[in-house]
Amino acid sequence: MASPVLPLCALYGGTFDPVHYGHLKPVEALAKEVALHQVTIIPNNVPPHRPQPEADSQQRKAMVELAIAGHPLFKLDDRELQRPTPSYTVETLEQIRREQGARQPLAFIIGQDSLLSLQRWHRWEDLLGLCHLLVCQRPGYPVSMDTAEQQAWLEAHRTTSVEELHASPGGKIYLAPTPLYAISATAIRQRLAENLPCDDLVPPPVLAFIQQRHLYR
Ligand code: ATP
Repeated sequence: MASPVLPLCALYGGTFDPVHYGHLKPVEALAKEVALHQVTIIPNNVPPHRPQPEADSQQRKAMVELAIAGHPLFKLDDRELQRPTPSYTVETLEQIRREQGARQPLAFIIGQDSLLSLQRWHRWEDLLGLCHLLVCQRPGYPVSMDTAEQQAWLEAHRTTSVEELHASPGGKIYLAPTPLYAISATAIRQRLAENLPCDDLVPPPVLAFIQQRHLYR
């Protein structure tokens, strides 16, 4: 008897300080392109590679909840916020792999900037043994890797086949032709500090939350 087909499970990590349309819109397009039924957003607690977030964990979680309310594509997983230790993506993926079993197709979504810096991530060599990488385009970042060696690594794992993503548990990199959004959380925090409008950058309930709590002032 043939084994049942397991739907591709997609995970999306980040600081989300705050969550913005540059996080959400490309991933909505990606979901259509790759036939994702659900994307699980996993906000991280103490991002190892960067300055600490300005909003605290619970505020960042609340903003993601507000942003995805009424969007059944997205769901939130707060496991990294519950850990006191740094959030290493590889460890979260190992945990999810243990929970879901070896056959489950798993994908981790990143932007092009994260692909370019991936080889600085903790135990980055282990990532493709745990999942596929789905990469959204991001304006302002080169489309090729920094070195010939990194580019060769990318080409060795790259697929253009959506079917392949669904048919295997991990190991492939898919560069998705997602629409470009020139939005970053850094620029939003700066704009808010300068009292500039952010209506086109952040969902309205998130902006209301930021204003009510005087975040990023
Ligand atoms: P910051 O400006 O504080 O560094 P950010 O806007 O890059 O934040 P993160 O929470 O660090 O947001 O990003 C989470 C994930 O979302 C990363 O993989 C990142 O590449 C991706 N991402 C963020 N903004 C965009 C965007 N505008 N287009 C495509 N991907 C994005």
